[in-house]
Amino acid sequence: MKLSLNTATVRKQWTLAQIIDGCARHQITGISPWRDQVEQMGLAQAKSAIQANGLTVTGLCRGGFFTAPDWHDDNRRALEEAHELGAQCLVLVVGGLPKGSKDLRGARQQVRDAIAALLPEARAAKVPLAIEPLHPMQAAERACINTLEQALDACDELGEGIGVAVDVYHVWWDPKLEQQIARAGRKKRLYAYHICDWLVPTRDLLNDRGMMGDGVIDLPLIRSWVEGAGYTGFQEVEIFSELDWWKRDPDEVLKTCVERAARC
Ligand code: ZN
Repeated sequence: MKLSLNTATVRKQWTLAQIIDGCARHQITGISPWRDQVEQMGLAQAKSAIQANGLTVTGLCRGGFFTAPDWHDDNRRALEEAHELGAQCLVLVVGGLPKGSKDLRGARQQVRDAIAALLPEARAAKVPLAIEPLHPMQAAERACINTLEQALDACDELGEGIGVAVDVYHVWWDPKLEQQIARAGRKKRLYAYHICDWLVPTRDLLNDRGMMGDGVIDLPLIRSWVEGAGYTGFQEVEIFSELDWWKRDPDEVLKTCVERAARC
């Protein structure tokens, strides 16, 4: 399987330009940049450096936050950037509860309505939208779509041009994971596959992701489900690690990513 680097993995150490060079040095052939880094480098420069190094843009991180007041403008910009970079999908972190609200059902409806409004623009821009279900611990602050089943139900309602990003960190615990990965494959909605590991204990709910092999996720098993569902795309390494990997030499991080992705 082909390897991609989500640029968050070394964002504390390197600029996007350095990350692009690093991918080339370590024979990582895919990249999934974050929009703030693209903005910092300049969209045109980022695009040309990515192309010059022959990297596939496996996703742009991120659109979404549909429960925020300015969601539409921000997502339109995200679509333009994803189109420009030739991203295989725009990853959607859909947003949690509006400030001060306890209405989770309402937030979920708001998310569905917003995606329905955005989808025709995404189709016109030829940018597939990928809903990334997040672990339920992040339902309030980041995303109120929390399981693959819930994401795929939304996709079924919404129609063509929308699928899912499966991130093992968020879905590894789900008893319906195998079944729902198979469903995503049948419906051709499996757009991205993100890997890392779940550490025990987890010291920070957002920024303590583990390197593949250092935690409790059965990565070979989940990978076999994903491949069994017909996924032939990249494995994208995405590690937010305030306490460990963000403190290390980034070349060591990339080297370890390559080794562990092969082994795990
Ligand atoms: Zn992810």
